[in-house]
Amino acid sequence: MRTLAIYPGSFDPPTLGHLDVIERASKMFDHIVVGVGVNAKKEYFLTAEERVAALVESVHVFPNVRVEKFEGLLTQFARSLGAKSIVRGLRATSDFDYEFQMAMVNRRLAPEIDSAFLMTKWEYSYLSSSIVREVAILGGDFSSMVPPAVAKLLSVKIASNSVSQS
Ligand code: ADP
Repeated sequence: MRTLAIYPGSFDPPTLGHLDVIERASKMFDHIVVGVGVNAKKEYFLTAEERVAALVESVHVFPNVRVEKFEGLLTQFARSLGAKSIVRGLRATSDFDYEFQMAMVNRRLAPEIDSAFLMTKWEYSYLSSSIVREVAILGGDFSSMVPPAVAKLLSVKIASNSVSQS
């Protein structure tokens, strides 16, 4: 049986922690769809198109991984693709409560889809999109925290933001 898993997230921006989860998941499943969440009520630093483009460039080395944008319920999106698993990453215990709750709700909504959790790598255990955003906005060096395509995009974004504010 060919297995398809979805790895959903905000990816605002994608980090090396996300990329590590993608790489490891790509060895466990036949196909991975990285689902870039678009929530009209949420404010993002990067647009959906920027998040998708940065991910597409970052995952092209994994032939069984593709990137798609989605709106609305994750379980509906997963069903529409025929995914049997939802992959999520886990860092410190602070991730656990939220991930546990989401996994329970998702199972209730779609019992045929299971959640699979991959523990972060030691070196990425304190890496988050919000930390990267903060470092970038404050002018710090984020190049060791994100894939090269994301670093390029963030540099351009920060430069254009500071031009539009000046
Ligand atoms: P969301 O808003 O859905 O939590 P994120 O883009 O912040 O989206 O995260 C997507 C998934 O990746 C989540 O399961 C999160 O726990 C996981 N994740 C984020 N950063 C890391 C990391 N450094 N190592 C492993 N998993 C991570």
